[in-house]
Amino acid sequence: MKKTLIIGAGGVAGVAAHKCAQNHEVFPDIMIASRTKAKCDAIAAQLAQRGYKSKISTAQIDAMDVPALTKLIKDYGADLVLNLALPYQDLAIMDACLAAGVGYVDTANYEPEDDAKFEYKWQWAYRDRYKDAGITALLGSGFDPGVTSVFSAYALKHYFDEIHYIDILDCNGGDHGYPFATNFNPEINIREVAAKGSYWEDGKWVHTEPMEIKREYDFAQVGKKDMYLLHHEEIESLALNIPGIKRIRFFMTFGQSYLTHLKCLENVGMTSIEPIEYQGQQIVPIQFLAAVLPDPSSLGPRTKGKTNIGCIFQGVKDGKTRNLYIYNVCDHQECYKEVGSQAISYTTGVPAMIGAMMLLTGTWRGPGVFNIEEFDPDPFMEALNKWGLPWIVDENPTLVD
Ligand code: NDP
Repeated sequence: MKKTLIIGAGGVAGVAAHKCAQNHEVFPDIMIASRTKAKCDAIAAQLAQRGYKSKISTAQIDAMDVPALTKLIKDYGADLVLNLALPYQDLAIMDACLAAGVGYVDTANYEPEDDAKFEYKWQWAYRDRYKDAGITALLGSGFDPGVTSVFSAYALKHYFDEIHYIDILDCNGGDHGYPFATNFNPEINIREVAAKGSYWEDGKWVHTEPMEIKREYDFAQVGKKDMYLLHHEEIESLALNIPGIKRIRFFMTFGQSYLTHLKCLENVGMTSIEPIEYQGQQIVPIQFLAAVLPDPSSLGPRTKGKTNIGCIFQGVKDGKTRNLYIYNVCDHQECYKEVGSQAISYTTGVPAMIGAMMLLTGTWRGPGVFNIEEFDPDPFMEALNKWGLPWIVDENPTLVD
């Protein structure tokens, strides 16, 4: 009987636990472990209420403590670890999986706590060790990275001989009624959004000021939204894994209220990651800010509207140019009804479960460290339709200039 250890008990972990438990044939035995055990117990209680068949247990763990985590993985007898804690824990959890000899899945790439810079190089450095140990690490099995990367592999496999341009568009048309709140971990979200932008063009990174490049796009089932170019992690691996690619950009929508608040918080120093001394105590301003903002996992009942996330591809097939848009639309309230969460956690938690399923069932296999687009996209695309994130193919999309 396969055993899955989920690490983290936040918004994404909550959804992934629900989806794993719904898929009890693949996930008959699940342990949820996080820094605060009460949060794991709260998820376990929700799962029990819904009457799922999987066996659920919980544990307290600081994932940065590699020996303790290795012991937990071994004592529980996990076959796979699904890392849904924060990017800071990625390397420690990868070390523990190596020590215990079990597979690893995550949704966000490693970021050092004292430097707001996420890159794959730290995790790619584990390739030989995972290969030698005969175990698999699957990196970036969320929505973006994750589903957007699988959309790219699928487009290349079925629609193009070569893809030249990819625009990844992440639109959240949801409204939670707060003047300012983030849809996933506030610290990670603000670090990402406040950073300089960048995109990949002609074999190199082009850097921009934060929010320097703005476009308007009319999103299906959402409407017109302003979107801004951000640096995003899947660009780094897609640039290597999509042969012939000339440019990859990532855009995310933001409302005016969010941007005005963010600018103000930046201007007064509240988004800084440099520790300061306050009344004899060291505090990190962004961590204090995260503590006073609404918990993203509490936004579920308040958030109304839809997300629309996908990729626009331009390339060639049989000597002719071709454009294609693959996207998913997800309704915040529908997600809340199904798993008690808003759509941002849902669109990340569902692919996290699917990535774990691909490894547990042996559908995707091979020792080493892989980005998600390196595997056959077809079974993952099929599973998206089955498990709550159906996708739409538009062969005549409006392009982004
Ligand atoms: P939350 O902040 O809601 O949850 C994070 C969880 O990790 C908390 O339960 C926290 O425990 C736990 N945690 C933090 N540090 C440790 C530690 N040292 N040991 C054990 N557990 C720890 O975050 P989200 O659920 O919103 O996000 C989870 C992950 O998903 C993040 O990495 C985020 O970047 C990623 N993500 C990926 C997306 C994608 O599309 N690819 C989109 C959205 C998110 P405690 O509460 O006790 O502190």
